Amino acid sequence: TMILGIESSCDETAAAVVENGRIIRSNAVASQIDIHRRFGGVVPEVASRHHVDQITLVCEEAMEKSGVSWEDLDAIAVTQGPGLIGSLLVGVNGAKALSFAHGLPLVPVHHITGHIYANRFVQELEFPLVAMVVSGGHTELVYMKEHGSYQVVGTTRDDAAGEAFDKVARTLGLPYPGGPEIDRLAEKGKPSIHFPRAWLEEGSLDFSFSGLKSAVINYIHNEQQRGNEINEADIASSFQESVAEVLVRKTLIAAERYHAKQILVAGGVSANSKIRSEMEQAAATRSIPLIIPPLKFCTDNAAMIAASGTIGFLKGMRADLSLNGSPNLPIEAF
Ligand code: ATP
Ligand code: MG
Ligand code: FE
Repeated sequence: TMILGIESSCDETAAAVVENGRIIRSNAVASQIDIHRRFGGVVPEVASRHHVDQITLVCEEAMEKSGVSWEDLDAIAVTQGPGLIGSLLVGVNGAKALSFAHGLPLVPVHHITGHIYANRFVQELEFPLVAMVVSGGHTELVYMKEHGSYQVVGTTRDDAAGEAFDKVARTLGLPYPGGPEIDRLAEKGKPSIHFPRAWLEEGSLDFSFSGLKSAVINYIHNEQQRGNEINEADIASSFQESVAEVLVRKTLIAAERYHAKQILVAGGVSANSKIRSEMEQAAATRSIPLIIPPLKFCTDNAAMIAASGTIGFLKGMRADLSLNGSPNLPIEAF
């Protein structure tokens, strides 16, 4: 199975060709991070315009580098949602045009299933499994009993983990995106400040990061008001420790409750070095196999969309030329 994947849900325009769901033939990404940095975050209208600029180039690059011809493709897979509507529409319309022009089936993909399937580039998936999805817009525990089956068993009640990273970073005066900045800064600090951990009700697999975010922001403001020097590295390290502890413990509870044969980690925040190392340690202690994608497959890319799209294609998922972007697409429909 040879699939061209297209991704444009947020601030990366990407296209990739993937064979049999696991072999990457090409992977082109045009990132807009440098453009949005001066605004301190993604500006939706600006993002859409840049997607329009890049989509054709990125698709051409992916096809060229793959060494695959249009006739060799089985389908085109595209991110239908969730994401920014203006951004999604660029990828969806590009995919529709290519599907029409080359007579190829169109397969709709849920962005988060793409993040999960990035793990299949590392190792074959074994079911049942539990995936911890931590990204800019999502923090979820997803139970999969087989390929292409997704059940959300825990989710954030307020902010996503990535949002908390980005907001804390902004309060510390660090550039966008804040996650990697906090990660780097934390390396130089100690987790010496106690910030809250939101465990919620006994046994709950849900998350909450807004209380932690406020606690960190209040701490910074209070110290500054008292005229005290703040230790940014210690704040970053303490914040990161709180996020990692809750994520790791709840993922392990889910893995045991659902008899997971594997734990997967997915989404941009899984690039975080503390979360990676804590998760590795915890999974090793319980002898549960863990997969974490390499850094470049943690953040948005189209190889992961093609990988998930391969499963969708084999399941018979199809869209016609009426396909539209869906900002709040539910994962259970995939
Ligand atoms: P979604 O996938 O939910 O639609 P998104 O696509 O914007 O959202 P990703 O691109 O998957 O999210 O991830 C971006 C997020 O990852 C940002 O919040 C960024 O700060 C965070 N991030 C990236 N690297 C790190 C890191 N090393 N530590 C913590 N967070 C990180
Ligand atoms: Mg992104
Ligand atoms: Fe993403």
